[in-house]
Amino acid sequence: MKIELLPALSDNYMYLLIDEDTKEAAIVDPVEPVKVVEAIRKHGVRLTTVLTTHHHWDHAGGNEKMVRLIPGLKVYGGDDRVDALTKKVSHSSTFKIGTLNVKCLFTPCHTTGHICYYVTKESSTDPPAVFTGISSVSYVCVSACLLWS
Ligand SMILES: [Zn+2]
Repeated sequence: MKIELLPALSDNYMYLLIDEDTKEAAIVDPVEPVKVVEAIRKHGVRLTTVLTTHHHWDHAGGNEKMVRLIPGLKVYGGDDRVDALTKKVSHSSTFKIGTLNVKCLFTPCHTTGHICYYVTKESSTDPPAVFTGISSVSYVCVSACLLWS
């Protein structure tokens, strides 16, 4: 798996997650959708999925525009307040992005509907990745959620 950090707003990042085997990609919290479109063109990948960590505008605020720019996107999130939500997930929900496995971890530390996405690739030496959305969802919190799941 490949992860590219795209700077957004003044002090935020969007994460472009690419499955190199299938060229399928997901974007985490696409608050600046035009930058996302530029990045997927640059990498020559097919964006299929939006992963939303929580509903605050600086994370989910770009979802509506993202879906208008790239119709048919699946928009994941754990909270009905997430804009353009198409797939509501809860703790331990799993799905795939190409050959990557995504597991949802419910981490209600920062908002009541906060989801972290834990991404692994089968039979691969790539280390797993966790997308928390914000740094104050602490490592301890994520570790605890992993233990419970
Ligand atoms: Zn927030």
